[in-house]
Amino acid sequence: MARVHILATGGTIAGRGSSDTSSSYRPGSVMIEQLIDSVPGLGALAEVTGEQFAQMSSQDMDEVVWQGLANRINKLFDADAADGVVVTHGTDTAEETGYFLHLTVTSDRPVVLTGSMRPATSLSADGPLNLYNAVSVAADRDARDRGVMLAINDDLHSARDVTKSSTTDVQTFISPGPGLLGTARLGRIRYFRRPKRLHTSQSSFSAFAQRRLPRVDILYSHAGMQPDLVRASVSLGVRGIVIAGVGNGNVPGPVVSALTDAVKAGVIVVRATRVGSGDVERGVELDDDALGFVVADQLNPQKSRILLQLCLAHELDRNAVQEAFFQY
Ligand code: ASP
Repeated sequence: MARVHILATGGTIAGRGSSDTSSSYRPGSVMIEQLIDSVPGLGALAEVTGEQFAQMSSQDMDEVVWQGLANRINKLFDADAADGVVVTHGTDTAEETGYFLHLTVTSDRPVVLTGSMRPATSLSADGPLNLYNAVSVAADRDARDRGVMLAINDDLHSARDVTKSSTTDVQTFISPGPGLLGTARLGRIRYFRRPKRLHTSQSSFSAFAQRRLPRVDILYSHAGMQPDLVRASVSLGVRGIVIAGVGNGNVPGPVVSALTDAVKAGVIVVRATRVGSGDVERGVELDDDALGFVVADQLNPQKSRILLQLCLAHELDRNAVQEAFFQY
């Protein structure tokens, strides 16, 4: 029987409300032992162990916890202490933690994130079935070498492609562009594809657990965006700026000038988009070669930030950073 270790970090899946119909609740209140006990049949899927790694709302998640998680997962697999790992996580930033792990876990064994939109105490709580499905994938031999995944609401997403699309809907996670990796429902798992870009055992990035990652800011573009935000970021010592641009990664003219100055000051500028899907391509409305910008290709701004932080931690130059956005 496969050994699946659950690392619990909090979120709504561990949330507690004052009653089963109350809309307000505190994420990160229920301990991992209770979460495991709330799922019937888990023991038939795998030999399951649990660990309370953190207990937070995922809006409080940060790079230090990501680094610690990557380190812990790598140690578990290096020591052959688990065949698969499940990470329970708040849904707000699950896509970010997932993508960080997708780039920094060194094993091809499955790592599956899950969470829930309704707290553990809610009427029709979605957490127990999501946890059941996540454990079934983590226990599955065929889940190997598919990178880090998110199993939620019967769907299976690649951590690279998934994003949260609704503030409250149970069917909130989507994978625009590449689409679902598969489905997982009550032990019936179907895989539709493998991720094409580099991840986990093929990735050259490491988690740098002993070192803080460089600061990268995300600046949100809009009609009338002011260039002084760019200057403020540069004066705060950022090493990189990700633009959540309008359309194909665009910003108003004065912001282009401020970003060009930032590039001259040694800051790496990545043009991503605030639009929920579609690629950002080089040289469409802006001459990226002349301006010295990098384009995000398929990554959304929050994932672009993570890839850029890791590129900067690895001292990659601008051309190598652009290459990384086409490879990962
Ligand atoms: N704010 C919560 C969190 O991300 C929401 C959730 O888990 O669904 O921790």
